[in-house]
Amino acid sequence: MAEPTRIGLFGGTFDPIHYGHLRAAEQLRELFELEKVVFIPANNPPLKRNTQALPRHRFEMARLAVSGNPGFVLSDIECTFEEPSYTVNTLAEMKRQYAGSAVYLIMGLDAFLEMPKWFKAEEILANAALIVMSRPPLEMEMIKASAYIDKDNCQMEGKVARIGLKNGNVLSCASISPVYISSTDIRRAVSEGRTIKYLLPESVESYIITNELYKKL
Ligand code: ATP
Ligand code: MG
Repeated sequence: MAEPTRIGLFGGTFDPIHYGHLRAAEQLRELFELEKVVFIPANNPPLKRNTQALPRHRFEMARLAVSGNPGFVLSDIECTFEEPSYTVNTLAEMKRQYAGSAVYLIMGLDAFLEMPKWFKAEEILANAALIVMSRPPLEMEMIKASAYIDKDNCQMEGKVARIGLKNGNVLSCASISPVYISSTDIRRAVSEGRTIKYLLPESVESYIITNELYKKL
């Protein structure tokens, strides 16, 4: 039987989306032979309440950014609701939507280390294959600080570490080439009237200017 196609879920506030996100997603798409990377802009993330742009703007910027890459798609599953979105629910819905595919949840190592604070984290770990991206200077070794990890069960396969979890599942941790761009820096630059050229697609830059986003922090 043919192997199922693989789908990667890439959630974030994307406030705004930038080349750090896009480059990371593209590297993982190639490395894990993902058929699609689904970008999922969050609504009002429970752990990140200082989001600056409205969900509809963040969604629109992500739409502009992913157009042109057939391997990238966008989902409005989180940002159309009034309620804060929880990964556990998004995951269940995405598994229904992509039934028959292997669904991977992509997150940064920083996010993975924060998982104990997430709503129903254990359920997420039980139901999702995780792809954790480590970008230098965050060392892959840092993953061993996580209480979910079985420290004696770690194998390198090329650029990817396969790490056993205490619940019996296996997580993949990939080291990706860092692109030192953050949404925080972009918002600050706009508010201070500095240039954001080459940090994000031109279409997104124009959208920010036209809609006067991030002028005041
Ligand atoms: P902020 O500065 O507001 O925290 P951000 O740039 O970190 O924003 P998020 O929307 O918080 O962007 O990130 C979504 C996901 O993308 C997270 O899993 C985060 O680890 C990852 N990510 C953010 N910036 C980069 C980058 N430059 N390279 C690779 N991954 C990134
Ligand atoms: Mg961040």
